[in-house]
Amino acid sequence: MEKEKILVGAHTSIAGGVFNAIYEANRIGANTFQIFTANQRQWSAKPISKEDAKKFKQAKFDNGIKKVVSHNSYLINLGSPKKESLELSRKTFLEEIKRCHALEIDYLVFHPGSALTSTEEECLDTISESILSFESEVKKGKTKLLLETTAGQGSNVGYKFEQIDYIIKKVKHKIPIGVCLDTCHIFAAGYDIRTKKGFDKTFEEFDSVIGLKYLNAFHVNDSKADFESRKDRHESLGKGKIGIDTFKFLMKDKRFQNIPKILETPIDALWLEEIEMLKKFAG
Ligand code: ZN
Ligand code: MN
Ligand code: MN
Repeated sequence: MEKEKILVGAHTSIAGGVFNAIYEANRIGANTFQIFTANQRQWSAKPISKEDAKKFKQAKFDNGIKKVVSHNSYLINLGSPKKESLELSRKTFLEEIKRCHALEIDYLVFHPGSALTSTEEECLDTISESILSFESEVKKGKTKLLLETTAGQGSNVGYKFEQIDYIIKKVKHKIPIGVCLDTCHIFAAGYDIRTKKGFDKTFEEFDSVIGLKYLNAFHVNDSKADFESRKDRHESLGKGKIGIDTFKFLMKDKRFQNIPKILETPIDALWLEEIEMLKKFAG
């Protein structure tokens, strides 16, 4: 496998400015990374200035960064049954799309949504309508939206491939859409990827339900919580309930070679080693 084709990185900090994430990525040997383009715990954020966008694009080029991923704010719920929070979520999402376009970010990853007091089906329909409402803004740039597979914690939807597929089918004619698969989340949701047999079966299922062509990014995390626990608790690679073998299967799989793989593991002091290890697994 050609080393340059392997895209590995981590969720890096933007403290001090968005371009700092690039130098951090460079330090840990990453050629791809994920960021929050704004404080993920606040509803409103400043738009990206022309100067910051310019610095960011230059630094990206200088450091050989191939793909950049943004992760949306955790406050957003595109499937909310409450009118006010739904409107605020949609407005905040639109601002995020604008920031992604300004920075020429490749993928915008987001959690589909939470049903709260509604049914899962109502929630999936609301999410689809929300996404469709972004059509004119999305088309102004090159950023593709990626639904993240979830652990199914609380009333979160997106813990079954069928739910992700349901949304994709409703929006794909108008919206550039794909999937970010989080290894920790799908394991907690009940996809047993611990053995090669289980790993292969899971991706066969992904292919038959959603289609592998929609798989555009991975979140590479081990899990602190048990199989089928429906709990979203990341762990460093090889130190959790999934185990190191799964990450070997993932890195050796030629189908996934050119897909960005982003660590969201809890100990950032280990990222350099984890990235080195993943590259080694790829051969
Ligand atoms: Zn996420
Ligand atoms: Mn994730
Ligand atoms: Mn998570």
